[in-house]
Amino acid sequence: MKTLCFGLIFLSSLFVPFAAVSAPPNILFIVADDMGYDDCGVHGCKDVPTPNLDALAAGGVRFTNGYVTGTVCSPTRAALMTSRYHYRDGVFDWIPPGKAGMNPDVPTVAGYLKKAGYRTAIVGKWHLGEQEECQPLKRGFDEFYGFLGGGRSYFPDQPKAAGVKVNHYTQIVRGAESVLEKEYTTHAFAREAVEFLERQKGSAQPFFLYLAFNAVHTPMEAPDDYLARFTNIVDKKRRTYAGMLSAMDDDIGRVLKAVDEAGVEDNTLICFISDNGGPITRNAPNASMNTPLRGGKGETWEGGIRVPFFMKWKGHLKAGATFTEPVIQMDITATALALAGVKTDAKWAIDGVDLLPFLNGVKTAPHAMLCWEYGQQWAIREGQWKLTYAMPDKTAKTPLLGLYDLSNDIGEAHNLAAAHPERVKQLQSDWAAWRKSMLGDTPAADVKPKAAYDSQ
Ligand code: CA
Repeated sequence: MKTLCFGLIFLSSLFVPFAAVSAPPNILFIVADDMGYDDCGVHGCKDVPTPNLDALAAGGVRFTNGYVTGTVCSPTRAALMTSRYHYRDGVFDWIPPGKAGMNPDVPTVAGYLKKAGYRTAIVGKWHLGEQEECQPLKRGFDEFYGFLGGGRSYFPDQPKAAGVKVNHYTQIVRGAESVLEKEYTTHAFAREAVEFLERQKGSAQPFFLYLAFNAVHTPMEAPDDYLARFTNIVDKKRRTYAGMLSAMDDDIGRVLKAVDEAGVEDNTLICFISDNGGPITRNAPNASMNTPLRGGKGETWEGGIRVPFFMKWKGHLKAGATFTEPVIQMDITATALALAGVKTDAKWAIDGVDLLPFLNGVKTAPHAMLCWEYGQQWAIREGQWKLTYAMPDKTAKTPLLGLYDLSNDIGEAHNLAAAHPERVKQLQSDWAAWRKSMLGDTPAADVKPKAAYDSQ
């Protein structure tokens, strides 16, 4: 088995000094859907306890400037699978029913890891295309339990009458077979993840498990026993959100316990993100909270793109550490690939960065710049500075250009563009060069299939 060495370990390291890792570790990605930046205890949430997420953060590294490439579901999930900005592979917005999915030729992390000898599974929401060639079993996964689309009811489906066609966007499937799931789907996805982990017990084969919740996306549906936990919350939508979030937190706890009980906690890299910020005013608002960030889902303000972002690898990453340099979900993928010893295909260059040399103190800042584009909006971050062209409020039709110093203005409240015209010009120029490298001369707004603000 391949031996991976990590070189010198500095005193400032967030990496526990193991001289070598004798075998590729297991990889577990856990993704929440439309969860707000503020909706976990470790980020200050007071009305919904999230003990399992807090324990995950406390057991490893919390990335305080953790971003996603997408402001909505499919783009982030695409770039998580490929470690490439999603624009490169035809995903500009959430993928509506029946519309083209992610380029089926681009290699995925699942495909790479499968080739490297991993057992690969996805449980939950896919949302990268319904066409057969886009489906998980054709994209590197050995196993799939979940649904292909962007959202569905959390409650059990009723048996279909004869002649009623299957809705391939919402139907729960195991592999390619329709399933009548009887549990609340968040619980069901945890159950399936736990069963997968139990099946790997004692196996010499490493695993990659992608647990992709659709919680806490709309529809607002919580089980009664979870609603009963939050009778103190007066706002009905927030109360339902609390129930949904609490269920997901419990279910993440079940999955993490299963990792522990399988005896592989110290040999499993566990990563958690939300796929985009909480939708607070539009784009299917779910009563999530992004405080103290501005804006939310569907926007290039911090509230749309900065998310809870944790990484735990017991015995390897220092528990309770924080990492403050900007990182992005494509880095999780690149880190997993590096740990597995995968050499990616040069034809499909990745944009993500292996974070381990940064966590072990050998290197400092993973990215000179990070960029976004969504519909009319865009943003670029370089160091402490962010230039964003985003909607000023919930009724706006036209974005606003603003320069913000995130080192002391995380809420993007003080527009410094007028005071720093040269910096604005430089950032605009850098962003323009980046987007040309992504899309040539075609604006994403012209190639994506539908307007940004009617998305679910
Ligand atoms: Ca989402």
